[in-house]
Amino acid sequence: MGYVSDGAYYCRGGFHKFADSLVTGLKQAGGEIYFKSKVSKINVCDNRVQSVLLASGQVIQAETVISNADMLQTVHDMVGKEYFPKRYLSRLQRMQTSCSIFVVYIATDLDLVQAGAHHEAFYYHELNHEVNYNNALQGEVSWMSVTVPTLLDDGLAPKGEHLIVLTALANYDQAENWQQAKADYMKKMLDFADSKINNLKSHILFIEAGSPATMQRYTLNNKGAAYGWAMTPEQVGASRIANKAPIEGLYFAGHWTMPGGGVYGVSYSGVQTAQKVLGLTRQDELWALCASTDGEL
Ligand SMILES: Cc1cc2nc3c(=O)[nH]c(=O)nc-3n(C[C@H](O)[C@H](O)[C@H](O)COP(=O)(O)OP(=O)(O)OC[C@H]3O[C@@H](n4cnc5c(N)ncnc54)[C@H](O)[C@@H]3O)c2cc1C
Repeated sequence: MGYVSDGAYYCRGGFHKFADSLVTGLKQAGGEIYFKSKVSKINVCDNRVQSVLLASGQVIQAETVISNADMLQTVHDMVGKEYFPKRYLSRLQRMQTSCSIFVVYIATDLDLVQAGAHHEAFYYHELNHEVNYNNALQGEVSWMSVTVPTLLDDGLAPKGEHLIVLTALANYDQAENWQQAKADYMKKMLDFADSKINNLKSHILFIEAGSPATMQRYTLNNKGAAYGWAMTPEQVGASRIANKAPIEGLYFAGHWTMPGGGVYGVSYSGVQTAQKVLGLTRQDELWALCASTDGEL
């Protein structure tokens, strides 16, 4: 919906620039960021958050904890089921998790302007998207997006070269061992892309892929879920899990929570959660507060 209402945007320099700007903002506001620091426990006492225990053994006292980690891991493993009402737990049990994604990263010396490639193109075997989606869950590469960031941002690659990202929805359970299945899946993706961009296969300088297992390894989202809960009409917007947990001081942000998955959805979720923590009902109050404190909340 974000693309429809506001249009699509590209971060010059690559998507990492978006994450970098969040880091800059957090640091300017006096925040400290711990990289590669796994949270083992969120400690709760008398239905109130007390602290966070890192895998390193360090304890961080906190009156407010916001988790954007996998929701079932947060509730079951970090906090503990015993701290949540039964109805809340059975609702989580009924939620369906989204599928994952398979990505192929390519560097090529093919002249993609000449080849008529686009910055972002979606290709489908079928025009019926239910069929494409179900085929994807069965392990077929039935649709794919082909993104060429260097067509907009030529600083990302040496002169005469381009980067291509092939993306397709994928089902984690389709392979017992993704390390073994990865090469075959990557070949299917490449064959599909070659049928749309003539001669691509003979102009590959570098190729690497990320499977659903890779997504799980980097994000810790169960089965590499790309969007948290599945983005079905029954599970988006107000029907997703609320940003405020039934424990004082505990909040959820990100794609497992309202309003939904994707970059736009989780950004909005972060804003909503910040408002809840600060007790602000309107979004313009949040921006006014940010402006008046120069980011130092
Ligand atoms: C390959 C791929 C392509 C995508 N493409 C698009 C796209 O084109 N457009 C779009 O809108 N959306 C896209 N999505 C979806 C979008 O990226 C996600 O919905 C969004 O990034 C989720 O953000 P988040 O903050 O909720 O969670 P995440 O980005 O998953 O962040 C969760 C963070 O928590 C950390 N974490 C987890 N457990 C712990 C723990 N115990 N201790 C400490 N840290 C922990 C993880 O390491 C991770 O950094 C894509 C997703 C994938 C996987």
